[in-house]
Amino acid sequence: MAVRERGARGEVERLNAELTGTLNRLQAAQQELLVAERMATVGRLSLKVAHEVRNPIAAIELNAELLQDIVRAHPGADMDEATGLVAAIRDQVNTLDALTEEYLAFARFPKPHFEDESINHLLEELAAFVRPVATRQGLTIHVATDPAVPMMEIDRGLLRQAVQNLLKNGMEALSRGGALTIESRADGDAVEIAVSDTGNGITPEVAGRLFEPFFTTKPQGTGLGLSITRQIIDEHGGALSWQNRPGGGATFIVRLPVKRPVHDALTGARDG
Ligand code: ADP
Repeated sequence: MAVRERGARGEVERLNAELTGTLNRLQAAQQELLVAERMATVGRLSLKVAHEVRNPIAAIELNAELLQDIVRAHPGADMDEATGLVAAIRDQVNTLDALTEEYLAFARFPKPHFEDESINHLLEELAAFVRPVATRQGLTIHVATDPAVPMMEIDRGLLRQAVQNLLKNGMEALSRGGALTIESRADGDAVEIAVSDTGNGITPEVAGRLFEPFFTTKPQGTGLGLSITRQIIDEHGGALSWQNRPGGGATFIVRLPVKRPVHDALTGARDG
């Protein structure tokens, strides 16, 4: 009797863990979908912008031509008409400015919120998150965090999404089994996060298009994972690189500066 009860409890716990895993994966998929939808919309918007920008530009060109004619024909005279044309030109430029600003505001990436966080903790949490699915697929997951990695200013949610994309790719590269390794490493004024798999690595044809939005070799792929990941790493002032492993498989390396540049170069340009 006691044995059966214990068995039943084990089953409930297993189901509970499975449900939690499914819920987490659903949330991750939903997040990915939101970003994907946003990017698809941005694609459509670019077309619209190009289209809408055409008319004001034609008007500006025409006004500028007329202005040139006036100036040429009446040197020093009749500045009223010229002034009117300049006003018309400035009007059109303002229209264009407002239009592009509006679209850009939409297309901009969600503004990151940086807070002091433990990257090691984030990696361990992510490993625990993917382990149940990986184990079911017959994969092993190794985590090796470097205790020397300091607390750093990161946007936890965004960085989590970036590393999760790399883990997902790694797992998808391991359809025939293998191992996934997640590592962190303190390296002077930078910290590296490496995600390695023992799959087939990246072929030269794929290598050239790896970060291209919408490029995918998977039937169900969106081709957005790596471009989103790279954008997130950019927002952190870091760099994303990759290399094939000598024994087969690929390693993706996220390199982040310990002191995030407080930069007008990144946020300033984007906000301004
Ligand atoms: P998706 O995963 O939806 O295809 P990504 O932008 O994440 O989009 O990846 C683009 C392509 O890069 C993948 O379709 C795959 O061909 C290749 N790729 C990414 N990661 C790996 C990896 N770890 N091993 C082999 N190929 C990879």
